[in-house]
Amino acid sequence: MATETVLVGSISHETNTFADGQTTRENFQNRREYFGEDVYKELRDTNTGVGGVIEITEEEEISLITSLAVSATPGATVAREAFEFYRDRLLSDIREYQDEIDGIILPLHGAMVVEGRDDGEGPLVSSIREIVGDDLPIVVTLDLHGNVTDELVDETDAIVAYETYPHVDMAATGRRGFEILIETIRGDCSPVMHIERPPLSPVTPTQNTQEGPMAELMEYARSIEERDKIVKVNVFPGFSRSDVPSMGFSVPVIADGDPAAAKAASRDLSEKVWEVREEFVGDFLKPPKAVTEAKEKAADISDDDGPVVLADVGDNPGGGGAANGTTILRELIKQEVTNAGMAIIRDPEVVEECIQTGVGNRVTVTLGGKTDDRHGEPIKDLDSYVKAITDGEFLNYGPKGTGTKNYLGRTVRLQCGTNDEIDVIVTENRHQPADTEIWRHVGVQPERFDILVVKSTNHYRADYEPRASHVIPVDSPGLAAMNPRQFDHQNVHHPIYPIDNLSAEDYPDW
Ligand SMILES: [Zn+2]
Repeated sequence: MATETVLVGSISHETNTFADGQTTRENFQNRREYFGEDVYKELRDTNTGVGGVIEITEEEEISLITSLAVSATPGATVAREAFEFYRDRLLSDIREYQDEIDGIILPLHGAMVVEGRDDGEGPLVSSIREIVGDDLPIVVTLDLHGNVTDELVDETDAIVAYETYPHVDMAATGRRGFEILIETIRGDCSPVMHIERPPLSPVTPTQNTQEGPMAELMEYARSIEERDKIVKVNVFPGFSRSDVPSMGFSVPVIADGDPAAAKAASRDLSEKVWEVREEFVGDFLKPPKAVTEAKEKAADISDDDGPVVLADVGDNPGGGGAANGTTILRELIKQEVTNAGMAIIRDPEVVEECIQTGVGNRVTVTLGGKTDDRHGEPIKDLDSYVKAITDGEFLNYGPKGTGTKNYLGRTVRLQCGTNDEIDVIVTENRHQPADTEIWRHVGVQPERFDILVVKSTNHYRADYEPRASHVIPVDSPGLAAMNPRQFDHQNVHHPIYPIDNLSAEDYPDW
């Protein structure tokens, strides 16, 4: 028999404040917008925070009220109207079930910015507190790219972040958050939090948790969790494409009833972060050299080795990129690369033209680079062949977001370049092509290419790296450019490394 009742609600967005326009409700509807029972139906058995919560409540026979689960592809500031619509929906469910629920779990992102505010998650939890008061336990799970605010720390009992990037532990994070929530409800844990903020904003590909400084820090965090009273050590490299005061690294630590232990643990980890700060800055190849290097490597590999994968980091839609950047495609064409694939170029005009032209016909298009001046010029007079047209819908089979649905809008597989040997997936919607199923859904096995270009910073590694002979992160231009120095931050808390030149002595004295 069920003993406790918990309510789950998820409003997730990673906001790139440098992007023009706003993220509207339509953008959420294009990715994920589930209410009530549909949350359960659509996210059960998926590798998502909500999926993990559903799984553990079923195992433990705990009643779960599913309010909503909404998420939009990372992009511009969230329109106030969209935020308030989802917030009010969640608040209305909380009011309705207020007398029944013993706790609330909220799988959020942590880097949401709402029109007129510097934060989304803090105000969201504050508005819940106004209804339920201070005593009802609330646990929040976050993406490690969250820029964690004091308001969020103050209003929440516990924050639990992903430990992996690529994020392959989304469900596990939901489960861990839920365990802490239940222990708190049952009086077995009295969570207290302390947050330190080492003044650092890493170059994005260095945040890969499979190797380098993040692997080291995650291992250290796990070892600190062995200490008495330490419940959870979170490591947030943050999200640099956001011009808000909370932007940057943070280390929120949860201890069981022992604030001093939380503080000591957070400071230990933060000192370690500072020690390795230079490893969070690196030089990566620009598009022309990266394509040349990929060609050289591809010439040396056999068919069984798998493709050389180029990551178009600067135009990663998963970091707010327009997904229509042309700099790498232009180089592929110029350097006469063959047997290559490119995912994706978002260009609804070209999709429409190709559909009008029809499968099996040739068309001359002006492709990409149409929304701003950050993602390269449009490629004009591109003679192409329309190989396939799809509805743009497929499931993730790879390790990240396993089982979740994708909606590219109407989608075209276009062939261009030397001998038409560059396959480009052209879509109506922005989407980070981190799961290789995107290729199979247009009718081609990704393994058979020599060179693959993916608009992704690091998530592609989860599904592409096991198939690849080499991976090369490319320092390409765009709204997701890898180095925080490539953006004009006005509102971040200065000084912060490497935007500002900081020496070891500039670090706050504990
Ligand atoms: Zn993330």
